[in-house]
Amino acid sequence: MGASEPAPERGEGRKPRTDWSAAPTVYVERAVCPHCGGAGYDRTRSVSGGDGSVTRLVHCRTCHEPYRICEEFPASGNLTTRAW
Ligand SMILES: [Zn+2]
Repeated sequence: MGASEPAPERGEGRKPRTDWSAAPTVYVERAVCPHCGGAGYDRTRSVSGGDGSVTRLVHCRTCHEPYRICEEFPASGNLTTRAW
């Protein structure tokens, strides 16, 4: 009954603990509705831009107007797939 797998050891022995206080922070703005400023939205579908970017077609949850959210890599990124 699934008893063949050895129980994982707790604590030490596995991956070293991540020191989150030393990790850098990447700030990403959340999308808000350009019509009313509302933060909530319902995603209809996502379209890949082919260059790593993704455009999400959404409807605002507050005013129900449609808008697009384009998420793309910053110039400081190191996007090696599909470079153009
Ligand atoms: Zn809105």
